[in-house]
Amino acid sequence: MGSNRRSAITVEHMTALPSTPDMYDLRMSEAARPLYEKVKAFIAEEIEPKTAEFFRLGEGREDHWGYGEGQLELLDSIKIKAKEVGLWNFFLPDAETGEGLSNLDYAYIAVELGKNPIASECLNCSAPDTGNMEVLERVGTPEQKEQWLKPLLDGEIRSAYIMTEPDMPSSDAKQLACRAIRDGDEYVITGEKYWSSGAGDPRCKIMIVMVQTDPDGPVHRRQSQILVPRDTPGVEIRGAMHVFGEDDAPHGHMHIRFNNVRVPASNMLWGEGKGFEISQLRLGPGRIHHCMRSVGAAEKALELMVKRGITREAFGKRIANLGKNPEVIAKARIEIESMRRMVLTAAKAMDELGNAEARVWVSAVKAMVPIRTCQIVDEAIQIHGGTGVSQWTPLARMYASQRTLRLADGPDEVHWFVVGRSEIASTEEAARDYNPKETFYAEKGSDSAVAFSGP
Ligand SMILES: Cc1cc2nc3c(=O)[nH]c(=O)nc-3n(C[C@H](O)[C@H](O)[C@H](O)COP(=O)(O)OP(=O)(O)OC[C@H]3O[C@@H](n4cnc5c(N)ncnc54)[C@H](O)[C@@H]3O)c2cc1C
Repeated sequence: MGSNRRSAITVEHMTALPSTPDMYDLRMSEAARPLYEKVKAFIAEEIEPKTAEFFRLGEGREDHWGYGEGQLELLDSIKIKAKEVGLWNFFLPDAETGEGLSNLDYAYIAVELGKNPIASECLNCSAPDTGNMEVLERVGTPEQKEQWLKPLLDGEIRSAYIMTEPDMPSSDAKQLACRAIRDGDEYVITGEKYWSSGAGDPRCKIMIVMVQTDPDGPVHRRQSQILVPRDTPGVEIRGAMHVFGEDDAPHGHMHIRFNNVRVPASNMLWGEGKGFEISQLRLGPGRIHHCMRSVGAAEKALELMVKRGITREAFGKRIANLGKNPEVIAKARIEIESMRRMVLTAAKAMDELGNAEARVWVSAVKAMVPIRTCQIVDEAIQIHGGTGVSQWTPLARMYASQRTLRLADGPDEVHWFVVGRSEIASTEEAARDYNPKETFYAEKGSDSAVAFSGP
C-alpha cells in the first residue's frame, strides 16, 4: 500500500480547493479492501455484542475516575483479539509501524469506526492517542519513541494533547501563555490549561503540552511542544470540565495547573519553536479522522431514526411516514452522501497533494461535517421522542460529541475563514478587470440603466 506523503504534484487550477486530475477517483484500493472487510466483520462480531456490557460494567463504579470491575478486562480482551488478527494501529501512514494505508483508504475504515463508541479504542485507533503517536513517530527522538511511542503503539498506556487555556482564546494559538523556561538540563513549566481530553483516565501516562518558550521571538516560533508525564510533581489536576452537564469520566476533559513542573530538556519535541509545525502535523490528519468518524456517526443516527420511525405508530401511521418525516429522512441520506464524498475527496487531496497543500480541503470538511452531523443526530432524537434524549439510545451522547466537535480542533468559524480567505485569494488576479456593467451589458450593446431611466 502506498505512502500518503507524496510531494505536491501539478495543480490543475488554483481555486480555494486545489485539485489534480486523479483527485476525483475515490475508489478504495484493492489492497485495502481485505482490511476494510475484516474491520467491519470484527466490529460486528466482537465489538457490537460487548459494547452495552462495557458501559453497564462502568455504572455505579466505586471510583468515579476509574473503571468498574471487569470493564478494562473486557476492553483488553477485545484489544488482544484485535492485535492477534492484525487489526491494530492501521491509522499510521508509516508502513513500518502501521498498515501504510493512504488517507483515502483509511477514510473508508474510519467511517465504520465512527458507528460504535468503543471501536476506535479496541483497534488502537482512538484520539488523542492517534495524533500523539503520529507526532512521536514523525519527530520523536529514539529515546522518546522507546519510552512513550512503544507503549502507546502496544495499547498499554493512553495520552493527552494539551493546548487550550482558560484565559486565552485558543482558536488563536499564537496567544497561548503557559510558559516553559530552560533551567540547566530541565524546563520549568508554569501555567493553566483546560479541556485536556483523556487526562482523567488512570491509564493516561503522558501528555504533549503546548508551551511558550520564546515570548519575544517571531510570532510563529514562540510556541513549543513538550512531553510531560502525568505523574510529574507540580501537575495539579484541578477537576473536569463538564460537557452539557456530564464530566465524561473516566476519560475527562481536565482543568490542569502546571506549578513549576520540571521535566528533562530532552522531553522537548523536535526542538524549541516548533510548536506550530507540530500542530499542523497532528491536526491535519486528526481533524479529518474526526470527520471520517462523524460520517459513521451520522450513518448510525439515520439508521436509528428510520428503525424507530417504522416500528412505532401515531395518528394511525408509522412515525416515519407522518408529516415531513420522509423529507427529514431523505435530507439526512443526501447530506450523508455529500459529506462522505467531501471527506473522501479531502483524504484523496492529502494523498495527492500532501497535508500542507491540502489543508484548505481539511478545513472545508471540518467546517461542514460536524455541524451537519449534529443536525442529523438532532432529527434522529426528534423522531425518537423522549427516548431520544435518554440513556436508552446512544443519540444524546452522540449529539454532545458532534456538538463539541464544532469547537474542538478549531471552531467552525476558523475553518470557514480559512476556506473563504483562500477562495478570495485565488480570485484576486481574475477579479482585477471585473466590472459587471462593462463585461455583461456593454457586450450586448444595450444599457438597461439608461433604458429604464425615464424621460
Ligand atoms: C469536548 C471538548 C474537548 C476538547 N479537547 C481538547 C483537547 O484535548 N486539547 C485541547 O488542547 N483542547 C481541547 N478542546 C478545546 C478546543 O480545542 C477549544 O475550545 C477550541 O480550540 C476553541 O478555543 P476557545 O474555547 O478558547 O474559544 P475562543 O478561541 O475563545 O473562540 C470563541 C469563539 O470565537 C469565535 N471565533 C474564533 N475565531 C474566529 C474567527 N477567525 N472568525 C469568526 N469567529 C471566530 C468562534 O465562534 C469561537 O467559537 C476541547 C474542547 C471541547 C469542547
